[in-house]
Amino acid sequence: MSVLPRGFTVIWGDQTYVPISIQAHVKKGGSLTNLITWETECPSCAKQFTLLTGMAFKSPRRRCDACKAPGRKVSQDKKKFRKQIEGVLP
Ligand SMILES: [Zn+2]
Repeated sequence: MSVLPRGFTVIWGDQTYVPISIQAHVKKGGSLTNLITWETECPSCAKQFTLLTGMAFKSPRRRCDACKAPGRKVSQDKKKFRKQIEGVLP
């Protein structure tokens, strides 16, 4: 991985994304770019999962496939999770 400095991570919200591989990719027009595979922890179930992005890291996926919930804020999940731990919710 020569493109990113050693130990590079991205923190989005309070979620940490760690790059685990970079692959060269040819775009439609024929120009070269890189695709990055990131590893992060799902804020809903705490499992590690991977996602693929281009070099522009914009609005990355927050949750794993099992927990995906487009449009629902991650902070709502966290509040529910905390209530479950505290025994407020079943
Ligand atoms: Zn999950």
